[in-house]
Amino acid sequence: MPAITLTDSKKYFYLKNGKSLRSIAELAAGIDKLPDDVFNHHVSDKHNDFANWIKDVFNEEHLSEAMRKLRTRKQLSDLLKRFLEKGHFVHEVIIIGGGIAGMSAAVYAARGRMDYIIISPDFGGQMNVSGEIENYPGMAHTNFAEFQDRFREQMTANGIEFIDENVKGIKKLDDGHFFVITDKAKYESESIIVCTGARARRLNVPGETEFEKKGLTYCHVCDGPLFKNLDVAIVGGGDAALEAAAGMLRIARKLYLITINPNMTGHEYLVERVVGQEKVEVVANAKTVKIVGDKSVTGIVVEQNGKQRTLPVKGIIVEIGRIPNAEAVKGLCEIDADGHIMVGKDMMTSVPGIFAAGDCADGHEYQYAISAGQAVTALLKAQRYLRRR
Ligand SMILES: Cc1cc2nc3c(=O)[nH]c(=O)nc-3n(C[C@H](O)[C@H](O)[C@H](O)COP(=O)(O)OP(=O)(O)OC[C@H]3O[C@@H](n4cnc5c(N)ncnc54)[C@H](O)[C@@H]3O)c2cc1C
Repeated sequence: MPAITLTDSKKYFYLKNGKSLRSIAELAAGIDKLPDDVFNHHVSDKHNDFANWIKDVFNEEHLSEAMRKLRTRKQLSDLLKRFLEKGHFVHEVIIIGGGIAGMSAAVYAARGRMDYIIISPDFGGQMNVSGEIENYPGMAHTNFAEFQDRFREQMTANGIEFIDENVKGIKKLDDGHFFVITDKAKYESESIIVCTGARARRLNVPGETEFEKKGLTYCHVCDGPLFKNLDVAIVGGGDAALEAAAGMLRIARKLYLITINPNMTGHEYLVERVVGQEKVEVVANAKTVKIVGDKSVTGIVVEQNGKQRTLPVKGIIVEIGRIPNAEAVKGLCEIDADGHIMVGKDMMTSVPGIFAAGDCADGHEYQYAISAGQAVTALLKAQRYLRRR
């Protein structure tokens, strides 16, 4: 057992019988003598005293935080056993990603009183760029800002705080645990839920990198208003392109919808909302060849039936699909041909103990409701996995 010493030998936690505890090992051995109200922070301040004592005396922030969530003697006993075995804190689950999937998993983890952390460099993931939302169950209409506010409220209500770090890799340990390695630290856990989402697919044509943020964008919500009363090209034929077009109807002077397909392929209600509008011109069977400009974008070159033409636009919005953010598990978990992390129906990846959910997982339809549902499934299955270990 690793040696654990007191950082301040004067600080003791007193048990009911007046006996003091001076080490976590003593604490583990004396669990039976702890007063009951230590385990219920809803009715007792003592629980916080207890957790604070752990933090002050042992400098163990995560252990102390985990103790605040405990309800039973058995939970504390298991937690301390894990801690003593390793000599440092081992989380039951680490959730990676702060989009709808990660947040949904975190809500269940917090309410299930699990020892969890959630790591994400941002709040909301693609919520930050998704504009109007009309298909989330129970919400007839909302926008990205209101949607985020609702989630922020729920995170606060459940005491969920993000660790603002970027996961660089995951290492599987011999005992089945994992190290999650970030740009700033290393955390150990018994299971992981990867909810790293997806990012915009690039056109990979000349001029794209040069004119990015100089008239070319992958986020109509963020940059669309910059194109007020200008002629704009939207590249892509699916829902995301149509949603961008619907949002730009009120902003742009003219809209070219450039698709490599014969028709727009998104949901019918979105097609109806956009196609046929006076300012909209669908440029079908068209491949984007080049972006041109001087200081900023002046046009987009497309090829139709072997002939090239330049559409004179000042703004270009690219919406040609997503690339899953699966780098953290590459070489560890199986990845499908499109880069998604492969999962079974319990959302477990090819590595026992690692689950994936949301836009980074395979079989996905890139929808909020699906991401949330998959993440909840993953969390509940991770709980089962932990119980069986
Ligand atoms: C323009 C647009 C409009 C949309 N409109 C709708 C709509 O109307 N209805 C609908 O249902 N869906 C819509 N979607 C799809 C919806 O946004 C996604 O399905 C959903 O956001 C996916 O959630 P997620 O949590 O899986 O991933 P994301 O939202 O992508 O979140 C991933 C999170 O992981 C974090 N992350 C990534 N890599 C790391 C790492 N290495 N370390 C730590 N954290 C990491 C990211 O920072 C982010 O916080 C839209 C998408 C777009 C782009």
